[in-house]
Amino acid sequence: MSGQFDLLLAGAGHAHLGVLRLWLNGQRPKGRIGLVSEGPHAWYSGMLPGLLAGLYRPEECRIPLQALCTAVDVELLQGCLLGLDPASNSVELADGRHISATWLSLNLGSQPRVPRGAGAALEVLPVKPFEAFLKGWERWQQAPQALAILGGGAAGVELALALAPVVPALTLLSSAQVLAGHPQALRTRAVRRLAEAGVVVREGIAVDAIDGDALLAGNQVAWRGGRVILATGANALPWLGASGLACDERGFVTVSKTLQSLSHPQVFAAGDCASLSATPRSGVYAVRQGPVLAANLSAALSGSPLTPFLPQRRSLALLADGQGGAMLSWAGFTAEGELLGWWKDRLDRRFINRHLGKQ
Ligand SMILES: Cc1cc2nc3c(=O)[nH]c(=O)nc-3n(C[C@H](O)[C@H](O)[C@H](O)COP(=O)(O)OP(=O)(O)OC[C@H]3O[C@@H](n4cnc5c(N)ncnc54)[C@H](O)[C@@H]3O)c2cc1C
Repeated sequence: MSGQFDLLLAGAGHAHLGVLRLWLNGQRPKGRIGLVSEGPHAWYSGMLPGLLAGLYRPEECRIPLQALCTAVDVELLQGCLLGLDPASNSVELADGRHISATWLSLNLGSQPRVPRGAGAALEVLPVKPFEAFLKGWERWQQAPQALAILGGGAAGVELALALAPVVPALTLLSSAQVLAGHPQALRTRAVRRLAEAGVVVREGIAVDAIDGDALLAGNQVAWRGGRVILATGANALPWLGASGLACDERGFVTVSKTLQSLSHPQVFAAGDCASLSATPRSGVYAVRQGPVLAANLSAALSGSPLTPFLPQRRSLALLADGQGGAMLSWAGFTAEGELLGWWKDRLDRRFINRHLGKQ
């Protein structure tokens, strides 16, 4: 499949799912539209810890893209993007295809940082892309071993709580405090939960290299073993930074409030791959950008005025505790328990169902 598209959506991230969902409800603009996705499914990160904890089946945590695309007359182009040329408005796929479009929209997420020097003695499993992570985890489960998780943010904490029951020994290494940036009361709850689950938490350990079977923080050996999971926050996709699009110092695409690239306004970017002030990188903000992105893509195609994205000042954090419960933080208030887990489950299932046309 090739040729010129009016609009090409690159990446089946949370914001693009929101765009497709609105089109499902009859708001699709006219024109030839394509979606490039690495895999046949969009995985929902909010349910990944529950999947690993054995609370969900894989098919409950992902959205099959072909059916959604067919329903909204979007051509699904399965393949891994390798490059983007903003001068010709085209993208390159790993299989050699080049696809060009009048308008491009990027919602490609981010990737964990990989310490330098990874070698054969220590198996490294980045948490993204999810499809590859789940395959690797399935293989590891056949012969459980001690492991370390790098990254003490929400993802690292949720993963540690989900995996602790099935791993002989689990260490969580965090360069800052665990859940830095969250209220102290949530931190306290999480650290207690991790201790109860038998997870060894080591804070202030900035692992930057792997040497043999050792994780190194500077010159110090921080941990030795055979397996490490990378959940080290959001890092930019290297090929995006090299594309010629204006990027911030960390390689994320700088966008205006209308979610357009500062250097190439025919390119939109949303979610983790974009850089916009007062907009943290999380699924919550990527989802919030969906309706504005949908409105602006329609406006761009029809030549109408665009609307700004105004990030919410606060966001709800609901962290899975690995046993069906959850920990909550909202505007300085924190709580935990099974009822919150039930509520999180309702919200997560609703997210999936809305993209299956069930709600
Ligand atoms: C375990 C875990 C739990 C989390 N829980 C939460 C939570 O509860 N709440 C929350 O707000 N945030 C959570 N996050 C963070 C959240 O996952 C991200 O911030 C969010 O997914 C970003 O959304 P996005 O739309 O930018 O991109 P994503 O949802 O990551 O989607 C990016 C898409 O682009 C595709 N893609 C990437 N590269 C290519 C390529 N080269 N070619 C083709 N396609 C490509 C990917 O396959 C993917 O489909 C969690 C993260 C993890 C790891």
